[in-house]
Amino acid sequence: MELQSIRSHFPILHQEVNGAPLIYFDNAATTQKPIEVIEALDKYYRTDNANIHRAAHSLASRSTEYFEQTRKTLADFIGAPEAETCIFTKGVTESINLVAQAWGRKFIQAGDEILVSTMEHHSNIVPWQLLCEEKSATLKVIPMSDSGELDMDAFYQLLGPKTKLVACVWVSNALGTINPVKEIIEAAHKQGALVLLDGAQALSHFEVNVQEMDCDFLTISSHKLYGPTGVGALYGKRHLLEAMNPYQAGGEMIKEVRFEKTTFNEIPYKFEAGTPNIGDVIAFKAALDFVTKTGKSLIADHEDRLLSHLLEGLKKEEFHKVKLIGTASKKVSVQSFLIEGKHHFDIGMMLDARGVAVRTGHHCTQPLMHRLGIDGTVRVSFAMYNTIEEIDQFLHVLKRICAR
Ligand code: PMP
Repeated sequence: MELQSIRSHFPILHQEVNGAPLIYFDNAATTQKPIEVIEALDKYYRTDNANIHRAAHSLASRSTEYFEQTRKTLADFIGAPEAETCIFTKGVTESINLVAQAWGRKFIQAGDEILVSTMEHHSNIVPWQLLCEEKSATLKVIPMSDSGELDMDAFYQLLGPKTKLVACVWVSNALGTINPVKEIIEAAHKQGALVLLDGAQALSHFEVNVQEMDCDFLTISSHKLYGPTGVGALYGKRHLLEAMNPYQAGGEMIKEVRFEKTTFNEIPYKFEAGTPNIGDVIAFKAALDFVTKTGKSLIADHEDRLLSHLLEGLKKEEFHKVKLIGTASKKVSVQSFLIEGKHHFDIGMMLDARGVAVRTGHHCTQPLMHRLGIDGTVRVSFAMYNTIEEIDQFLHVLKRICAR
């Protein structure tokens, strides 16, 4: 697909906000949805809605088939060996909690250690804190440099025989840093530790292959990937998923229920208790197809160009009060910054007054903010539909804000 025509697929982009054309630079929070996704959701409720996996009627078999097609498409998208290794959840947060509960509560013992990095999203910190508290295990933190790169020497020192899991964000939502996860996985495996990758910000930007990466778990969020909110997935290696306890209990996850004893279903159903978010899972497939059709490398090149253009623009004298936060050498198109003498929240409001949507605050990474000695940033994050012209307009508005 031509990048020029991409914008026409996103109806929401064609509107004015506060009297100016919308410039949507808040893609790390959630991406906008192409018409293909919106129509898939609409079609599902107009023509196919039925509960899945149980009934014998046509609508039910159709919705089951579409639901399972998404699983297959997702497995292909991430290079998973089998669709059954992809479990639907409501997002990355639930996927991490699933591993903490279903794997962690079974396999983590007193004295064990779990490693996370300084730049984790709260969803990849708090579940492990709760687990460590319950199990008298220890949470250790991989430090990072001022530019937002993991201190790998420190990582090797922290990694040891007590380490049972490294839970690490692949791409930082606040800084844009792409972490050296391949190296982390290889080192962790040598120590017999598992690795969970938080893929929330990775999948929309570059090609991901879980088998090449050899990660044990990968967490996925549909809404960061041009799909609906309320849907995500957990990829896990088959033998790990099979060894894990159930996560939630109820319908669908059982094989046979007796008052004396219940047996559990096979993966992935063992982890999918209750009626799932069927319509949104089905529409998620349209998002995955859209990204695949557009082409990951085309998207990555385009987003790299956008980031370079922004950074080039910000070098100008009129932006001397702008301080970039997150300047790692390997980054996706996410840039945090501050302006001397101005509060990040006020900058966000001033940009919004000119139609520019950005995110301000701690980005659910308070420990990272604490490490940097700040309480928040302004963050711009680009997606495939953003343009050089939008960045020029953003710089124009930012220049006026800096001059105030
Ligand atoms: N991890 C990262 C790096 C994120 O950016 C986010 C969303 N901001 C999450 C986890 C949580 O993802 P979800 O909204 O799918 O629960």
